[in-house]
Amino acid sequence: MLSDKDRIFTNLYGTAPWNLKSARARGDWQGTAQLMAKGQDLIIDEIKESGLRGRGGAGFPTGLKWSFMPKDNGGQPAYLVVNADEGEPGTCKDRDIMRHDPHKLIEGSLLAAYAMRATAVYIYIRGEFSEEADILEAAIDEARAAGLLGPDACGSGYDCEIYVHRGAGAYICGEETALIESLEGKKGQPRLKPPFPALVGVYGRPTTVNNVESIAVVPTILRRGAGWFAGLGRTNNTGTKIFCISGHVNNPCNVEEEMGIPMKTLIERHAGGVRGGWENLKAVIPGGSSVPLLPKSICDTVCMDFDSLKDVHSGLGTAAVIVMDKSTDIIKAITRLSKFYAHESCGQCTPCREGTGWMWRVMERLVKGQAEIDEIDMLLDVSYQVEGHTICALGDAAAWPIQGLVRHFRDEIEHRILAFKSQVAAE
Ligand code: SF4
Repeated sequence: MLSDKDRIFTNLYGTAPWNLKSARARGDWQGTAQLMAKGQDLIIDEIKESGLRGRGGAGFPTGLKWSFMPKDNGGQPAYLVVNADEGEPGTCKDRDIMRHDPHKLIEGSLLAAYAMRATAVYIYIRGEFSEEADILEAAIDEARAAGLLGPDACGSGYDCEIYVHRGAGAYICGEETALIESLEGKKGQPRLKPPFPALVGVYGRPTTVNNVESIAVVPTILRRGAGWFAGLGRTNNTGTKIFCISGHVNNPCNVEEEMGIPMKTLIERHAGGVRGGWENLKAVIPGGSSVPLLPKSICDTVCMDFDSLKDVHSGLGTAAVIVMDKSTDIIKAITRLSKFYAHESCGQCTPCREGTGWMWRVMERLVKGQAEIDEIDMLLDVSYQVEGHTICALGDAAAWPIQGLVRHFRDEIEHRILAFKSQVAAE
């Protein structure tokens, strides 16, 4: 269990004010200029050594991503974009960081931008987060007034401006290249890669897009050292993580814990356990709606980190843990997700535009049992034709929940089809 001395987000629940004075009392903005004085390359090396992997879902090593940015921009602009879109169903961690601890994100943005030689930072925030956007803007103003941002930020000689940009609520704008398009004022549709944003990003300039949590942990890592962060969790899955626990638990919550904590411990210790007790558990979606669900038999022992969840054909994703007890109609639950992904498809590529809608319509019939048994394999086959054949990962996100359902609850689907057939025969 994570001890309080290792906690990064000490104001996650808003028990103290978010303002600069309070943030400073919590240790933020302490010795920022000295951290910058280490130099850009040393900062990037330290983030690499810490083992930090992106907290927005994909889990790509953060320091490595930073190192893709060109070291010499020839005096031209380069950008850091903070992805604060947080549209993945079940996920609500970045919102609490921005609401209660915005200075961690702002200080992290300054340090990350400096390390990558970026000339400005954009925080792309989901439009619905109006309160959080207001707080962020007020916190940025505070930091600028205190000389921590703007020209000669923290007395470092480096100029850094941070701009908050409000999105309009499309899920796909959480995808980094769709986000960039939207930031540029265009329709939020993903770009084909390559070229990757580190070469051609915002306004055609080198850009790195990082999740809020990935950036907000940076100042603490640099202050306490890469070794401290790497000592938490396990190899390749280091540090702490904010888990968002929702669904059929007694106390839904956000909690910062050590990577690799057993799922059962996480739910029982922090969320008051499954409604009706652990034996009443049916399944858990461990990383936000796009990752495959896991049945209780796997949840009994699985640990919450990137590699452990990958080993059981699921993923850590955003670490949004959606708990479903035995009262859940699991086919209906996954159908709801299918509808979501069909609705959020940007329509650019055929497998996603047509496939997500097709899968959703089949799922709607499966909920009622109005299907043939061999349609289950047909559905699975279509999901494999969508997965990996699209411009962005939304296609995968639509396919994986269905694949998880069929993998673990095929019996339940077949039972429903047979029950419907017998009901029709009896009439
Ligand atoms: Fe758009 Fe879907 Fe293609 Fe992504 S996979 S670009 S959301 S159509």
